[in-house]
Amino acid sequence: MVAPIRKSLDFIRKDICRLRKNIYKSIMGGAEYMKSIKKYETIINEALRSALEYDTPEGQINEFISFFGKHIGSDRIYIFEDDEEHHVTNNTYEWCAEGITPQIEHLQGVNMEVIDWWYDTFDEGKSVIISDVEELKGVHQVSYNMLKYQNVCKVVVSPLRHKGQIKGFFGVDNPPAVDYNALTMFLDMIGTMLISLLKIRNTFQKEQYNASMSSYSALSEIYLCMHLIDIKTGKYEQIKNVKHVEKECEELDQENFSKRVYTTMKYFCTEMYLSSVLEFVDLSTLDRRLMETNTIVHEFIGTVSGWCRERFIKVDSDEKGRLWHVLYCVEVIDEQKRREKKLLYLSETDSMTGINNRGSGERKITEFLEKKKGGLFCLLDCDKFKKINDTYGHAVGDTVLIKLAAVLQRACRENDIVMRLGGDEFAMYLPGMPDKAQAESFFKRLFTQIDKISISEMQGEKINVSLGASLYSDKDRATFDTLYHEADAAMYESKKIVGNHAIIYSDLPQARQTPL
Ligand code: GH3
Ligand code: MG
Repeated sequence: MVAPIRKSLDFIRKDICRLRKNIYKSIMGGAEYMKSIKKYETIINEALRSALEYDTPEGQINEFISFFGKHIGSDRIYIFEDDEEHHVTNNTYEWCAEGITPQIEHLQGVNMEVIDWWYDTFDEGKSVIISDVEELKGVHQVSYNMLKYQNVCKVVVSPLRHKGQIKGFFGVDNPPAVDYNALTMFLDMIGTMLISLLKIRNTFQKEQYNASMSSYSALSEIYLCMHLIDIKTGKYEQIKNVKHVEKECEELDQENFSKRVYTTMKYFCTEMYLSSVLEFVDLSTLDRRLMETNTIVHEFIGTVSGWCRERFIKVDSDEKGRLWHVLYCVEVIDEQKRREKKLLYLSETDSMTGINNRGSGERKITEFLEKKKGGLFCLLDCDKFKKINDTYGHAVGDTVLIKLAAVLQRACRENDIVMRLGGDEFAMYLPGMPDKAQAESFFKRLFTQIDKISISEMQGEKINVSLGASLYSDKDRATFDTLYHEADAAMYESKKIVGNHAIIYSDLPQARQTPL
């Protein structure tokens, strides 16, 4: 892209020679006037040379106008480009001398009506020359107020013309006290250069835009929908649309992203997630949310597609570092969610019994302990399990473990944690279990259920377990390891008693000497 720009600029330089000949031919002026023209020509030539140092049209235009500002001496030089469709004109470039406040931000979307007399002057083939702003008072009051507010005393504004049509204008605020005729001739020459630079910029931007669009379009293959949004205006380009909301989109404001996404999401998103989705698509907070990262995501359940993930991707920022363009995309992640859920289940579950494995059980118990909530921790081990294996076979042993796990699970509430530690050893954690009396009634209930386990191959032989427990209160600072230790000590004692039996650590003689 750089080579064609250089070529076009060289072409413009040749244009100057042609313009110069015309100027000489057409001007019948004094020596001073010709001297000014000659000076300006040299400046234009130098300005183009200087602009050529820049590789992008934006850089070249900024350099071009700043060169003039510095060399002819003025407060501010600016370009306005007309937006015919909305009947407004926008300040797109400006150069300000040191100490002059930039105005570009306030001069967006200026109604063309306000300065219609400027356009009338342009139509007559002239530039607007205001040698004393006070002359506007009462005549063009709005212009007077506007210029006065900006501290402008003098101004010269020339049209930007392309194929006979006014495309905007550029002006010089507070130029030096010079021959205004020579200055307008000079501005006319600059106007020709500027309009060429703006055309090159448009081609450059269009090519860049097309290149980005085709890469976004390739990227959109993996997404359900994709939009490119201009944060400053709220307008967007649709790269890909969600098929089943296409009909709803027909009646929408097609230009405004927020309005469009708010309405489509009412069809596309389940009610439960709607408010969080709408919060996520709020463009007014996006700059802050994308400050330290290039992408943000939010997951929700869609009405048709199941689990979805919406995403904003930073595309670019303006010269002041404010977020400018972002991509908004939605992808379906239902399959991925299902896989994740399955993997999580497999990683947390003991494959034979279907209850928590050691890792997940310990993690969940630790989470509870961190909340400093009192409860009951139990260790439970089958008595003479080796003998069951040896007598009836390993498969029967497995059935015992499965049935026992199911009984433990059933005896507990939803919030309780039941886990297999390995072999024939299980653990249970019952948060909120308040005291010894409640714990003992729980053991009783549990043993009754274990007693009911019947395995046909075992010909009526009962399964017995030993249980060691640790009760702790909200005030105790327990860890998994301390609870395990205490319950294990209690279990050791419990093993000594034949049949289903439970012992709580606090009942052991050593517990009374070393409280938790
Ligand atoms: P105690 O009354 O002292 O607990 O004696 P025990 O025979 O039950 O001894 P222990 O608890 O140490 O034995 C556990 C046995 O469980 C050892 C091992 O062969 C068996 N085992 C471990 N994992 C499995 C399993 O997945 N399936 C089956 N069937 N047996 C297992
Ligand atoms: Mg055992």
